[in-house]
Amino acid sequence: MLEISGLCSGYGGPDVLDDISLRVQAGEIVAVVGANGAGKTTLLNTIAGLIKPSAGTISLSGTEIGGRPAERVVRAGLSLVPEGRQVIAPLSVEDNLLVGAYSRRDGGARVTLAEVYDRFPRLRERSHQPAGLLSGGEQQMLAIGRALMAAPRALLLDEPSMGLAPLVVTEIFALLSDLNKLGLAILLVEQNARKALALAARGYVIEGGRIVLQGPAGELANSPAVVEAYLGAAGSREFAV
Ligand code: ATP
Repeated sequence: MLEISGLCSGYGGPDVLDDISLRVQAGEIVAVVGANGAGKTTLLNTIAGLIKPSAGTISLSGTEIGGRPAERVVRAGLSLVPEGRQVIAPLSVEDNLLVGAYSRRDGGARVTLAEVYDRFPRLRERSHQPAGLLSGGEQQMLAIGRALMAAPRALLLDEPSMGLAPLVVTEIFALLSDLNKLGLAILLVEQNARKALALAARGYVIEGGRIVLQGPAGELANSPAVVEAYLGAAGSREFAV
């Protein structure tokens, strides 16, 4: 579904991403794990059209989307759940959700809104509250709900576990598994390698803007090289897999 080849991008200076190639098949969950500053956010933001690639191709179901503006990438069927959630704090929960459907031209936003509320009853209960008053976990659900409002075929998630209590992280990951079972392809970037590789079918390890390892998620999680790479790169027990 999503095929990336030879992707390079950055912020005007030397490229941050160097020759990244990866793919996500229809209905698959793929994890990209790596330490702080490895290039995970840059990768997702480049795919999502927020950063222009300097080289390489990004195709979604055979259509080239590399370098297209973000709203066209959303319309092509790819939605981003950004790092730090980025809900619009003063807007109500419902208005945040409706923002996610802004680029839709099929008139289906109200139907999807009802589906999102069915999936996240707490968002329905708080639909008229300002989003800034929600807990971190609820804001993460709102960010995922907002992405779903565009009726995507694939979801990009940037560190959905960031700053959340372990129980809430478990809830969010169970939700991602449910969404995947309904047919949504998922590309997830995470520092929480253990959780991400437990959820995914396949994984990639990114270091210094390059893919240094890839394979079935279970194999990666048990690979001494992954343990070594993480401990070497980050020195944090969060990276032990
Ligand atoms: P984190 O988990 O901390 O978000 P990451 O793996 O997502 O890390 P990126 O945020 O993609 O990493 O950062 C990759 C590199 O790009 C880092 O060296 C970072 O300093 C640099 N970088 C990120 N954002 C910008 C920016 N807006 N301008 C210039 N350099 C940036």
